[in-house]
Amino acid sequence: MIEMGRTDEVRVRIAPAPTGHMHLGNARTALFNWLFARHHGGKFIVRIDDTDLERSSEEAVKAILDALRWLGMDWDEGPEVGGPYGPYIQSQRLDIYREYAKKLVEGGKAYYCYCTKEELDAMREEARKRGRPFKYPGKCRNLTPEERERFEREGRRPTIRLNVEAAWGSREGKIVVHDLVLGDVEFDVKEFDDFIIMKSNGMPVYNFATVVDDYLMRITHVIRASEHLSNTPKQILIYKALGVEPPKFAHVPMVLGSSKGEKLSKRHGAVAVEWYRDQGYLPEAMINFLARLGWSYDDKEEIFTVEELIEKFDLDRVGRSGSVFDINKLNWLNKQYIMMMPLSKRTDAVIPFLERAGLIKREEITPEKRRWLEKIVEAVGDRMTTLADIVDYTYFFFTDEFEYSEEGLRKWLSKEGVPEMLEEVKELLAGVEPFERGEIERALRGYVEGKGLKAIRVFQPIRVAITGKTVGPGLFETIELLGRERTLGRLERAIRFLKGRTENP
Ligand code: GLU
Repeated sequence: MIEMGRTDEVRVRIAPAPTGHMHLGNARTALFNWLFARHHGGKFIVRIDDTDLERSSEEAVKAILDALRWLGMDWDEGPEVGGPYGPYIQSQRLDIYREYAKKLVEGGKAYYCYCTKEELDAMREEARKRGRPFKYPGKCRNLTPEERERFEREGRRPTIRLNVEAAWGSREGKIVVHDLVLGDVEFDVKEFDDFIIMKSNGMPVYNFATVVDDYLMRITHVIRASEHLSNTPKQILIYKALGVEPPKFAHVPMVLGSSKGEKLSKRHGAVAVEWYRDQGYLPEAMINFLARLGWSYDDKEEIFTVEELIEKFDLDRVGRSGSVFDINKLNWLNKQYIMMMPLSKRTDAVIPFLERAGLIKREEITPEKRRWLEKIVEAVGDRMTTLADIVDYTYFFFTDEFEYSEEGLRKWLSKEGVPEMLEEVKELLAGVEPFERGEIERALRGYVEGKGLKAIRVFQPIRVAITGKTVGPGLFETIELLGRERTLGRLERAIRFLKGRTENP
């Protein structure tokens, strides 16, 4: 006996199939469910739809759960956390589906079908010849016990089909999906044949397992991608057959890859949530971005904290048309969120990226080095679009092994008089005391003025000499953070490099 939960409690679920990584469309559907549950003080349930045993894997289950965790969507019931209506993995619930299918057969709402693949193919071919869509004609609907026994003896393994007429109570009528996003959507009962609910190998089909679970798990609202809308009338027929009330449905428009209406796919950029994590997108930025794919609060607001989303989210502001995935929007949001992080947190966040690039070792970060790291992150300022950008902007702080960029060499280092100028700058910086950005700036600006040169003609060659690049954090900070010894060493190296080139062109 299943104990009843609070009847007014909102209970929503996602039912990902663990056949690959969690992609952005699924993450968006998960988020809408999660926000809806949190907004209404209800429960968010994760159920693994792994009835396609061949294509499902443990790794994919883990990847999906990791993606949810990373995005901060905690689940109240499901794998790892359990719950009162478990198990939450469909392959562990096969007996339940078999029991319900059997009940439907016994109640005359479903029947065993012994038609072989060959027989069905022949019927399909026949329909094709007559230019009609194939509909199972109900050949096995009224088999006698003797006929069934004969088929069994022949070794045929039956499927189980829903008896649509018995389930619906008639061959006529409209199945209406009262969709909370799309409004009423009607389907004609006549469109449906007696479809299979259990395969001959004893596995349930998606529509059947979904209904049995949504019912037993007391799901109140099914919020899912609109590509499932065509399944919903079949699911309503199954609810009818079981004699229970369907949940409310909300089909959310697809995330599109382009404004031409194409479905989001790899072609439009990476689709797996983990890719964004590994690239240094922040979960808060992803949540904000995903929430805005199909939901809007008003025309103005772009940035929403998770708390604000929970407070404001509801289905009435989910649009009916597909929303287009725009990486520029995500990049813009990510930049904002990076800059909203306090310096210390931002530093923590970039450390894994520096580590992965082999530039630092976490265990070697002394308190002094930590302060230095924070200053580097501060100097980078708002230049990062993703956390991974830290590597490109700062690697020269961590290693002397860098080359001069082609542009830096051509535009700045190879100009006449540069080696001599760098020589003078070197002398000058050797005497700056204390070796801090203020003093460094004063000395260099004084040099520029004394020489009557354009600042850029001095500063850019220095930058290229000490960092290899033409862009990066502020020059004076960079010099301070490199320290006197390394700065002078790099100037010297550039001078030697340039002289070597003129001597052996
Ligand atoms: N396994 C289905 C999917 O991931 C579940 C659909 C549903 O929510 O009913 O698309």
